[in-house]
Amino acid sequence: MNKREFLKTAGALAAASALGRVARSKQAAMNSNTARTNWAGNLTYSTNNLQAPATVDEVRAVVRNASQLRALGARHSFSAIADSTREQISLERLKEMTLDEKARTVTVGGGVTYSDLAPWLNAKGYALHNLASLPGITVAGACATATHGSGLRNENLATAVTALELVTGSGDVVKLERGKDGEQFLGAVVGLGTMGVVTRTTLELLPTYKVAQAVYQELAFEELGRHFEKIFSSGYSVSVFTDWRNRTAEQVWVKRRLAEGDANQWDHEMFGAKLATKKLHPLAGHPTESVTDQLGVPGPWYDRLPHFRIGQTPSSGQELQSEYFVPWEHGWDAVQAVEKLHEKVGPHLFITELRTVAADRLWMSMAYHRASLAIHFTWKPEWSAVRQLLPLIEAQLRPFAPRPHWGKLFTLPAAQLEPCYTQLPQFRELAAHFDPLGKLRNGFVRANLYAG
Ligand SMILES: Cc1cc2nc3c(=O)[nH]c(=O)nc-3n(C[C@H](O)[C@H](O)[C@H](O)COP(=O)(O)OP(=O)(O)OC[C@H]3O[C@@H](n4cnc5c(N)ncnc54)[C@H](O)[C@@H]3O)c2cc1C
Repeated sequence: MNKREFLKTAGALAAASALGRVARSKQAAMNSNTARTNWAGNLTYSTNNLQAPATVDEVRAVVRNASQLRALGARHSFSAIADSTREQISLERLKEMTLDEKARTVTVGGGVTYSDLAPWLNAKGYALHNLASLPGITVAGACATATHGSGLRNENLATAVTALELVTGSGDVVKLERGKDGEQFLGAVVGLGTMGVVTRTTLELLPTYKVAQAVYQELAFEELGRHFEKIFSSGYSVSVFTDWRNRTAEQVWVKRRLAEGDANQWDHEMFGAKLATKKLHPLAGHPTESVTDQLGVPGPWYDRLPHFRIGQTPSSGQELQSEYFVPWEHGWDAVQAVEKLHEKVGPHLFITELRTVAADRLWMSMAYHRASLAIHFTWKPEWSAVRQLLPLIEAQLRPFAPRPHWGKLFTLPAAQLEPCYTQLPQFRELAAHFDPLGKLRNGFVRANLYAG
């Protein structure tokens, strides 16, 4: 950052002192983060200019002085959604967590991950309604892309947000609250990084609870199709894993919420699938240390709802991911449509996971006004093959108006995304309101939200 240029822009001594601290933090961040890739390594960020401010005032100084900027969370998106050609800002030093027991909420700094938050909350007697398959993502980054877990009645993680504090494109601090700020709030929560840099997120809490999970093996597709709703209702959160070979789901993970005194009994069979007697990784042959406990052993919500444990490598670590949301009521038809591609998909796939997500009201959520089946693909790191397969999958899903996960890989053109998001014009207007110069827009946002 050019100090003289900044002073000219900011014109204030207070800002100058914030700049000094930011410049030092930037240096530290660049030294400690030389690789500059996302978690999967499939994307090298287009800038080496990473800022890591320590306070909201420092965030404001960075935003004011930037010409183009993207917030970076825990780098777990596979798409270029967090990329920038000029500058990125990491809030990894904003780690505060403040509990409001009266309001039953927690407010977390922009750098807090679910790994930081969940055990801390649990120790204080509280819980969140759901978690993703892994805990090592930031609350801000997860909510920005409508990250989700599973459960017919469970909405995505961003629906727990009750308030947001943003530093807007002009460097102002804005607070938006559910209920009070109506439509603006609904538009800004799944903000895709375009509404501002989220410095604080407030989440609603539940009393802590226990979950037990068990895995069923070898569910025939015929049974899955016949009992689709029953299978996805067999737990609080259910995931069906298939590699599309042999018209079989190799594993069905059932996570049950236990109330005091619940029996915690598991049938030995579910529609012909057998209850597993040893712990399993969803990816065949991968070590199970990284996986949360199974076999019906009860544990805290945060150590059962994700598939992968805190501090462990989730999934394969060497992979790509894609995911498409289709209307829940057409879920089985959509699965059958993808199944037609099994011979092409199989060689490049680690595993597919089917999950359910309840409908919500957040404008850019993949489950906006639509209860959904989410069809996910964990690919081998073979982008040249995967990029040929995605259009084939997207063509098969076209009758179901698929909405791709913003943080994963897809090739659907903007013209096809636009009709899926009826609030997109309002979203663009809101983004222009908070960021009139379009500083927070990057290539991904322009290509997918402004080119339709
Ligand atoms: C192994 C693995 C498993 C996954 N499992 C799931 C899953 O179960 N369910 C699911 O839905 N997704 C899953 N994902 C995808 C992941 O949850 C999303 O991509 C999520 O957005 C990543 O969060 P992050 O903290 O890494 O943010 P990043 O990927 O760094 O950023 C994501 C977006 O958030 C924005 N952002 C980040 N911080 C801020 C901020 N402070 N202010 C404003 N904008 C911000 C960025 O600009 C960007 O647009 C998985 C990914 C991996 C690698």
